[in-house]
Amino acid sequence: MAKIGFKVQGSPRCRALRDMAPRCEARFKAKDLHQKLFNEAKKYIPGGVNSPVRSFKAVGGYPIFIKKAKGSKIYDESGKEFIDYCMGFGAMILGHAHPVIRKGLKDAIEKGTCFGTPTRLETELARLITEAIPSIKKLRLTNSGSEAVMGAIRLARAWTRRDIIIRFEGSYHGNIDFTKNTLVLPYNDIKKIVETVKREEKNIAAIIVEPVAGNMGVVLPRKNFLETLREVSDKYKIVLIFDEVITSFRLTYGSAQSFFKVKADLTCLGKIIGGGLPIGGFGGRKEVMGLLAPDGPVYQAGTFSGNPISVSAGLATLRFLRDQNPYKGLEERTRNFCEGIRNIAEENKIELKVNFIGSMFSIFFADSNLFKRFYSLLLKEGIYFSPSGLEANFLSLSHTNRDIEDTIRAISKVFGKLGRQ
Ligand code: PLP
Repeated sequence: MAKIGFKVQGSPRCRALRDMAPRCEARFKAKDLHQKLFNEAKKYIPGGVNSPVRSFKAVGGYPIFIKKAKGSKIYDESGKEFIDYCMGFGAMILGHAHPVIRKGLKDAIEKGTCFGTPTRLETELARLITEAIPSIKKLRLTNSGSEAVMGAIRLARAWTRRDIIIRFEGSYHGNIDFTKNTLVLPYNDIKKIVETVKREEKNIAAIIVEPVAGNMGVVLPRKNFLETLREVSDKYKIVLIFDEVITSFRLTYGSAQSFFKVKADLTCLGKIIGGGLPIGGFGGRKEVMGLLAPDGPVYQAGTFSGNPISVSAGLATLRFLRDQNPYKGLEERTRNFCEGIRNIAEENKIELKVNFIGSMFSIFFADSNLFKRFYSLLLKEGIYFSPSGLEANFLSLSHTNRDIEDTIRAISKVFGKLGRQ
């Protein structure tokens, strides 16, 4: 890698302060460092990132380059510590570099990383998942959530011999092209879904939904929304796909389906089931899954699908979650945290809404321009939220009461500044 030098830049005020205050100098250098690293990355990587939201386009400034992570903390290239609430966009429910995952990975790596053959580990992960999510009778592993959604949609079209997919505004189902033969309806609009399905009844292959929306901020399903999707799917023989890439093993040990008591025909998984390594999966009714190659004609494959490294990290995570069942405590802590945020917003006369379920949450400011300002001030205080108001934030098992108190204190300081502006 090219060596990166530092050039003295910044406002005259910061330059003057820098002469006097070493702390200001450290901060100044950190900002300069990330700018340099980002410019260097942009020379070789489109937009400097391998996934667009990381570019900080939604929040302004430069993305911070992270060197290492442990528990609830991430550390940037300058050594600065942040309390992390992005948590690998929801993958890291145990926290970063958790001992059980490190052990699982160490044992697996020593045995080899890619065999191109079946392994007992895959069967074990599939068994754990089918036990935890009763609607999944059979499961196919992939390398990402996007691939899982692609497989589920292909399967639904083959099963129904229909083309149209209904999805919902504000949802995200991965980086796959599905605009052709797709109808996009408002999330939580029961009337619209009933009307549309009635009108198009013979052409709809699948309805795909995030049971809790996590890609327009956290938005909960309104009463009877998921139930209605189940009813119309049964009535018109449509495949109901729950995209649980975020929600599976996040709200409970299993899926949002048991949380809301609505069953899907096919379920897409990702994130947590790989314990922080690349993974995805889709599964569901036996007869539908039976169409997949090699049993049936629907082709789906992957060199690294079910690789022993991702699967070992996933197994370590799920076993830990199954044995500890930490969901009640996690939700309690998230509830207190969100209440704390609401209270200090009120004290500072900042209008906002905090949505949460389980250990996922997001903040919606009445004045949407405030988010950018909030974000950059909070970052300076050492708190790392997901870098877009449309992304969810997450608590992990590694977040301590102390982390939460420190974060509330930082948010209070930031709200104080925003309230005065
Ligand atoms: N589905 C949902 C609901 C997601 O949130 C995501 C990613 O954030 C995906 C699918 C795609 O998963 P991946 O990024 O692993 O391809």
